Amino acid sequence: MSDALPTHLIHHPYTPPEGFDAMSPGVHKASTVFFPDVNALRTREWKDKSGYTYGLHGTPTTFVLEERIASLEGGRHCVLTTSGLSAISLVDMAFLSQGHEVLLPDNAYGPRKAFAAGELARWGITHRFFDAMNPADLEAKIGPATRLVWLEAPGSITLEFPDLPGLVAVVQRANEARGDDSRVLTALDNTWGAGIAFNAFELGIDISAQALTKYPSGGADVLMGSVVTRDERLHQEVLLCHMRLGIGVGANDAEFVLRGLPSVALRYHAQDAATRALAEWMQHQSGVAAVLHPALPHSPGHAYWKRDAKAAACLFSAVFDDAISQQQIDAFCDALRLFRLGWSWAGPMSLCAPYHVPSIRTTPWPHQGGLVRFAVGLEAVEDLRADIAQALTVLRT
Ligand SMILES: *Cc1c(COP(=O)(O)O)cnc(C)c1O
Repeated sequence: MSDALPTHLIHHPYTPPEGFDAMSPGVHKASTVFFPDVNALRTREWKDKSGYTYGLHGTPTTFVLEERIASLEGGRHCVLTTSGLSAISLVDMAFLSQGHEVLLPDNAYGPRKAFAAGELARWGITHRFFDAMNPADLEAKIGPATRLVWLEAPGSITLEFPDLPGLVAVVQRANEARGDDSRVLTALDNTWGAGIAFNAFELGIDISAQALTKYPSGGADVLMGSVVTRDERLHQEVLLCHMRLGIGVGANDAEFVLRGLPSVALRYHAQDAATRALAEWMQHQSGVAAVLHPALPHSPGHAYWKRDAKAAACLFSAVFDDAISQQQIDAFCDALRLFRLGWSWAGPMSLCAPYHVPSIRTTPWPHQGGLVRFAVGLEAVEDLRADIAQALTVLRT
């Protein structure tokens, strides 16, 4: 068997119940798990998946999903959480204490910035932003209190693709002068790459968090997150924090994600091709000042994407001409029929949302015009193109 991802995910090891060998893993649901005797109750271990003790700490269904997500991302261990956002906050809570500082890319996913500004700040954990496109800025911002550096590739909304190995190297240099207990860790929000566009661990990243809500589910009907690691010690810290927080996932949600996994690579590449076609076409439409997508040659960080990634996800952003008002852009979004207004992406249905970039970042933004982010679904590309074309006529009136 080759190590091609789809084959690997479809023929992933699974031990079926005696006499019931089938493609799909069973859906096991429980809060209570019975122990045969007191000795078993005292000694049974769930942390290494050698046993089951309580529904919150894992079921046969969630253990299988964890193993497959770890495989998908080229990691060794996985912990499932209730959403992508809770996967990110779990990493923060597992590794940060009062007096520590976490560094975030300026173009990070918005709600994760809100967690730092709201909860982390109240707990005496500071955060600062760095320009993800400038490793020297990260270097300047790593201080004695820094313990964690988050990365995102590409940035949310504005889709700049950073020099991941360059940023990791900055952290590695800072760690040369530090002892093991003050080591700075790197964590990546890997929702966009999904384990398919690139292998985060081969780029030197310590921890990968992903919103399984997006590609692995693929159905726009589940919220779930994952934290994947290769290092056993890091995994144990994530696992213990997760156990203390009580954020285990339900078996029916795990079932939906398991159902989505065999087609994840197929969907990723199909949506990639459709998105590139639309992004390229969009560049030539009047009223459009710039189209942001890592595979487009002028898009920020294109060279890093080309060097480090094999594919691109289903997102592109269009920046409109300065002369086009927010009202016209809103009317354009309202005129779209197939692209529905809403958050999230990587489901079957195309989505879009307008953003005001200057209010969501501090680093300079070169454009004046408004931005709309498009998430391309699984509809026929020609229908999506026609939908944007008809809405553009509304924009121009
Ligand atoms: C959607 C998303 C998340 C959060 O996922 P939820 O499951 O909605 O909490 C985190 N990071 C990125 C980049 C996302 O797009």
